[in-house]
Amino acid sequence: ALTIAIVGLPNVGKSTLFNALTKNQVLAANYPFATIEPNVGIVNLPDPRLGVLAELFHSEKILPAPVSFVDIAGIVKGASEGEGLGNKFLANIREADAIAEVVRGFEDPDVVHVDGVVDPAADMGTINTELILADLETVEKALVRYEKELRLKRVEPLVHDTAVAARDALQRGEALSATKIDLAPIAELGLLTAKPFIYVFNVDETVIGSPERQAELSALVAPAEAIFLDAKIESELIDLDPEDAAELLASTGQEESGLDQLARIGFDTLGLQTYLTAGPKETRAWTIGKGWKAPQAAGVIHTDFEKGFIKAEVISFADLVETGSIAEARAHGKARIEGKEYVMQDGDVVEFRFSK
Ligand code: GDP
Repeated sequence: ALTIAIVGLPNVGKSTLFNALTKNQVLAANYPFATIEPNVGIVNLPDPRLGVLAELFHSEKILPAPVSFVDIAGIVKGASEGEGLGNKFLANIREADAIAEVVRGFEDPDVVHVDGVVDPAADMGTINTELILADLETVEKALVRYEKELRLKRVEPLVHDTAVAARDALQRGEALSATKIDLAPIAELGLLTAKPFIYVFNVDETVIGSPERQAELSALVAPAEAIFLDAKIESELIDLDPEDAAELLASTGQEESGLDQLARIGFDTLGLQTYLTAGPKETRAWTIGKGWKAPQAAGVIHTDFEKGFIKAEVISFADLVETGSIAEARAHGKARIEGKEYVMQDGDVVEFRFSK
């Protein structure tokens, strides 16, 4: 599943947010991998289409696309030097597809700030520096190996040269995502500052109710996405039934919970989309990349579906809702038979045909 690592300084609200994420017990039962790792939490990608399909097909259950979050111990100054939890923590984020950085925006005299004052820009600077230093260390270590391998002709010169360019940028204090370097040749290094970032500002109601203040904070991180939430409210929302939760959200002036926003924006940031399958057993969303062709998309359900792919019957969600059933969609020529070259569209309702 898509994995987003949560990072941030200590005492910014990571655990509070993460507790809200892991309280999704029903979900955890559907996605067994979530219960294996205590530091993994799951959020559903919100998708109103699933409920509509489940009703049409009288599905027993609905399985939305899961987005998983990994909680990582807090970064402090010096984390990259292996102080405290540093190195173990860094190994954990290397595996993630994206990084959600929690930044403290709430004032509370009872909650100590590690550096004494609440200053979102300074906090982001601290984390940025630690991540750059961590990447620098990774690249320098790799370069020792690449230089040796280059003499033995066991590595492409491009790999070595890319690592040199990355090292130089990091030494100048640049995050790799801010450079134009094509890092594909050294993707194996899992460099942290090359990953997509989402900024999660943990704020109180004054900021949630202030578009001006949000615009200021967003400007600090642009072009990366910023989300504004109140971690304490998020952890209360998760204990409420849907109606009460909606009421509490509305009372704070929000339309969507912070966790839902996080799942949705994480999905967009990574250029993902879903296609749908529906039947009496389940209605389900499947995660794929934009531009994927039908066989690759089929492979997400089962590798046999990709290997033995013959064709796909595709109905767009809108056409299916309009006609009311697969049979009616077929009768009206809305069910298309697509082959290996078909490029999947978001919200396609699909049935694959394959040979074993
Ligand atoms: P972590 O170290 O980043 O995991 O931070 P925690 O989640 O443990 O939060 C640190 C303290 O801040 C706890 O006492 C939380 O109750 C409190 N806290 C977290 N989020 C908020 C918030 O949005 N507003 C206020 N006032 N306190 C918060």
